[in-house]
Amino acid sequence: MKLIDIVVPCYNEEEVLPLFVSETNTVIDTISGYRFRYILVNDGSRDRTLDVMKTLASRYGNVKYISFSRNFGKESAMYAGLSASTGDYVIVMDADLQHPPAMFPQMIDGVEEGYDCCALYRAKQEGESRLRRFVSKIFFSFQNRISDVKMPEGAVDYRIMSRRMVDAILRLTEVQRFSKGIFCWVGFNTKWIEYKNVERTVGTTKWSLWGLFKYALDGITSFSVTPLRFIAVLGFVISLLSFIYIIITLIQTLIIGVEVPGYVTTLCAVLFLGGIVEMSVGILGEYIGRIYMEAKGRPIYIVSETNIDDRSDYNF
Ligand code: UDP
Ligand code: MG
Repeated sequence: MKLIDIVVPCYNEEEVLPLFVSETNTVIDTISGYRFRYILVNDGSRDRTLDVMKTLASRYGNVKYISFSRNFGKESAMYAGLSASTGDYVIVMDADLQHPPAMFPQMIDGVEEGYDCCALYRAKQEGESRLRRFVSKIFFSFQNRISDVKMPEGAVDYRIMSRRMVDAILRLTEVQRFSKGIFCWVGFNTKWIEYKNVERTVGTTKWSLWGLFKYALDGITSFSVTPLRFIAVLGFVISLLSFIYIIITLIQTLIIGVEVPGYVTTLCAVLFLGGIVEMSVGILGEYIGRIYMEAKGRPIYIVSETNIDDRSDYNF
């Protein structure tokens, strides 16, 4: 029988986790021919998520957990879960039931058809503010335009992947992980299916608008150097225009003589160029910061506790 690992990053999900497991179990019970195993990753929760995981693990033999020493972020949690997985297929999903387990049969059909991955995208983003939807729309179109990785709008981190695709993902060991991009970057054939977004019933979203903005920025800088090219081109264009302006001024001075007024022009030029320089330094800084963080070569996560034992993790 094929084994399917379900990797679930969890941060402060004590309320929803038991619900998640029981709801997922009812779906799993209807699917024959596969064994399922949960790999719950506790991403340094401040509530009793770990205790809940332990209780679940003692009740169900197929619940495995990994607990981090602190909050490392969802991306790191996903990496840890994928590293621990040994299944023929691996499902990645959120704990908050926004990713309905009822989609499992369709997703499994997808990979059994021969796709290496079957991923979901949101049909309608109900329960989301206009601003959020706008930001997400801009993000996806910008991301697709300037970088090598392409993904449909509304793509979420809910997917099933083949073993070889998971192994490929594990080879990307960058610390600043942007999974949406990484999933696309590794290639393989992905089948996209639509699902209806469900509103979070319990707990709260961990994303602030500023957090989303930083995430979008991460996505862009991880997979594209277009901003660097943009400032190079901008610098070139400004130099060219300045050169023309210098020639004009020189000729004017030679013909008419020195013209004293010019306060506004000078001020504008200084302020405008100052702004451009600051922006360019900022963009450079973004990339240098990323190089710095990667150059340290720190681990992606640190485990404090787990019930995964290499020898017995198949015995459930
Ligand atoms: N999550 C995590 N670490 C974090 C933030 C979130 O593991 O630092 C998990 C969280 O428990 C959930 C998933 O990532 O299972 C998605 O989080 P959330 O529902 O807050 O995001 P949204 O659905 O609003 O994008
Ligand atoms: Mg959510």
